[in-house]
Amino acid sequence: MRRPFICGNWKMNKTVRESEIFAQQLAALLPPSLQRDVAIAPPFTALHSVALIIRNTPIRLAAQNVHDRPKGAFTGEISAPMLLDIGCQYVIVGHSERRSYFGETDEWINKKIKAVLENGMQPILCVGETLEEREENFTFSVVERQIKGGLQGLGIDGISKTIIAYEPVWAIGTGKTAEPFQAQEVHRFIRKEVEKLTSQEVANELRIIYGGSVNPSNISPLMAEEDIDGALVGGASLSVDDFLSIIMYK
Ligand code: PEP
Repeated sequence: MRRPFICGNWKMNKTVRESEIFAQQLAALLPPSLQRDVAIAPPFTALHSVALIIRNTPIRLAAQNVHDRPKGAFTGEISAPMLLDIGCQYVIVGHSERRSYFGETDEWINKKIKAVLENGMQPILCVGETLEEREENFTFSVVERQIKGGLQGLGIDGISKTIIAYEPVWAIGTGKTAEPFQAQEVHRFIRKEVEKLTSQEVANELRIIYGGSVNPSNISPLMAEEDIDGALVGGASLSVDDFLSIIMYK
């Protein structure tokens, strides 16, 4: 049984104080018997303060990015040991904004994933096609390349600890969500690709979450699909009310 996983990606939003208020409010509203995994990914500047607030709550901490090297002369970068030290359990890797604005390649993303795993955290590997790629029928080949590149050399143990986020680039921050059946067919494809790299058992247990303009009204039909195990939520995770409604979807 795959436990639903809902992660909020705040991107470059919220000051430390705003992040603290959000974390306090969400923690107070979440029911104690929640049967879902919940994480928030604040900006680096707020990780420490949020970590202190969510310490004894069901909310887990995620980072939005990481460098692949453990330390050294990489001005402006943050390493996996630093994220572990601050209390992160998950790290988002290969978000489409990092791929397109910061030139992250599958090879580099793979190195970051290895650093995350070596430090005992779980990577959330983001994959997804652009609108142009979808229109030219390259969705499956693009996703296949990103999956194989990202998971290269992780072994069964590493792959089984990874969460994959299917995020069609055309649906991120655009208000345009993939139809549940469109997302489902890519999720199914991803599970089959993971099965080829591991086993049916590992693939069946792997969590594949959807991201792209998820909101309180579209979460339920998405979650009703067989291979959709949760959501990576951008814009709607900035509001406590919206994020809570998404977490509490029926
Ligand atoms: C994201 O950034 O991962 C994302 C899915 O953003 P949004 O929900 O705003 O489309």
